Amino acid sequence: STILYNDRFLDRSQGKVDMEDRGYQFGDGIYEALRVYNGKMFLLDLHMKRLERSARELRLALPYATDHLAENLDKLIKENAMDYGYVYFQITRGAIARKHRFPEQPIDTVLTASVEATDKDEDLHTDGIKVSLLDDIRWLRCDIKTLNLLGNVLANQEAFERGADDAILHRDGVVTEGTTCNVFMVKDGVLITHPADHFILNGITRIFVLQLAERLGIPVDERTYTTAELLAADEVFLTSTGVRVTPVLQIDDRQVAGGKPGPITNRLLEAFNQDVEQFITA
Ligand code: PLP
Repeated sequence: STILYNDRFLDRSQGKVDMEDRGYQFGDGIYEALRVYNGKMFLLDLHMKRLERSARELRLALPYATDHLAENLDKLIKENAMDYGYVYFQITRGAIARKHRFPEQPIDTVLTASVEATDKDEDLHTDGIKVSLLDDIRWLRCDIKTLNLLGNVLANQEAFERGADDAILHRDGVVTEGTTCNVFMVKDGVLITHPADHFILNGITRIFVLQLAERLGIPVDERTYTTAELLAADEVFLTSTGVRVTPVLQIDDRQVAGGKPGPITNRLLEAFNQDVEQFITA
């Protein structure tokens, strides 16, 4: 396959990073993952805005403008003749002798991007999944999409070992998000999700689903809620670039939401799918 390395297109076998790259040594970098439908990147502008925000928060200079990056990613999709799948890209602060503090002289950041072809509807679990409720042991800047994902990795692995598809994380009983996704619950007709503060990543899919809810006239409350509220919810679902809207039907050994996808979840799912179909044919 073809990859993007800074401003060049290379064969995957040529994609090598330096052993002193700060991304490799410290996780000092940022990333984005986008879904591609019919050769086009979905919600591209929102992803680029979030990338710029992550870069600002880490005081990391992007190697070039996001417009140019978008052009390069488009080329990458075409080079790989990919119709459906993912684009993943990351930018690290660059390679230099190991020291915690930022390099005194500016060094070149390292941007890499690759694609993964999938079936059109791969990774969707519209029938619902099982999750595990686990402690959120991550740092306090989960709003930045950094390469530092160990807290997410450990929880995701723990969930897998418990026979669940993902974990829902909580801090002292307050539900934050999943290891790779945001969490929503429905109670008495109101859609409730953790506010977009430092404790969660403001998912692009989260933003999109909130817009859909507004369009459909579903009341929304962005507030914190407890694990007890979660377990007593009428509906629970996850959102992410990969899974779109995925109903949660079981949390550890407890059935939630009556064990089947609820009406508000289904309305959002349908609206989401319609928008994707429109995007595909537009
Ligand atoms: N929360 C975390 C921790 C994530 O890693 C992700 C996606 O990777 C999300 C939420 C969902 O974000 P998005 O909808 O932009 O994919």
